[in-house]
Amino acid sequence: MHKRRKNETGWTSAQTLSEALPFIQRYTGSTIVIKFGGNAMGDEVLTQKFAHDVVLLKQFGLRPVIVHGGGPQIGSMLEKLDIKSEFVDGLRVSDMETVGIAEMVLSGAINKSIVQAINQAGGRAVGLSGKDANLITANAKDAKLGFTGTPIATDISVIDVLTAADPGFIPVISPISGGAAGESFNVNADTAAGVLAGALGASRLMLLTDIEGVMDKDKNLLTNLSVEDALGLIKDGTAKGGMIPKLTTATDAVKSGVEAVVILDGRRAHGLLVELFTDQGAGTLIR
Ligand code: ADP
Ligand code: MG
Repeated sequence: MHKRRKNETGWTSAQTLSEALPFIQRYTGSTIVIKFGGNAMGDEVLTQKFAHDVVLLKQFGLRPVIVHGGGPQIGSMLEKLDIKSEFVDGLRVSDMETVGIAEMVLSGAINKSIVQAINQAGGRAVGLSGKDANLITANAKDAKLGFTGTPIATDISVIDVLTAADPGFIPVISPISGGAAGESFNVNADTAAGVLAGALGASRLMLLTDIEGVMDKDKNLLTNLSVEDALGLIKDGTAKGGMIPKLTTATDAVKSGVEAVVILDGRRAHGLLVELFTDQGAGTLIR
């Protein structure tokens, strides 16, 4: 119900909405792949706000496709089970036991909680993993990393089917993928989101994380990066840990035809809307 206010708030909100119209029209019909990070999704209120924003994008005629991580949640489950795990260049080393637990956490608990949050916000989300309908086939990235895999093929037909219908569904994808010999691979969620964005011909790949964007050596936000800049930050050690797969993903996605990749803060409510529908933007844009 409308609240009847005596002040001008309604008029200024309407003006803001009206200013968003050209931006909304620019993206109507385009695919936006959104990676929802493990750190950003720890908070229930933020998850609800994220779900609302995703439903709004869908109702504005965009095609949001969600890929999620779950690093912190996998970490705490491994801890509970007293299983040690280490990272090499931002990627988790996965033995067979670890990938089994990663699958339980990602394709089970986390996937369904995001699906439910979107449905509660009024959308119709469908949970999938890399394994479903061969969405992502992976193989071992490096013997040292065990079952931490790298995508070698994608089949996006299931996403096309789900998003083509009117009003359509919102796919929510866990990055656990199948291997040719029936193995399970733990694929970094940024990497999974990147290959899907490329295969879907997405206009934008949005990587929501737990930091404002990409920082330079003095911790200042970098708002615009070229592919060469992004690779330079990895080479000179400015980008470390989990930022490495993000920047590699961003450069690969741009090379495969994604118009732009944005690395932005998932802890701030409505970052997606600010980035897409205002001329101010948010985080770091790579193209
Ligand atoms: P997510 O769960 O969103 O994938 P990650 O922890 O994998 O989060 O990656 C984000 C982290 O990357 C940041 O919290 C930050 O600690 C780290 N990082 C390393 N180098 C940089 C950099 N140059 N700019 C921003 N963040 C960086
Ligand atoms: Mg990460």
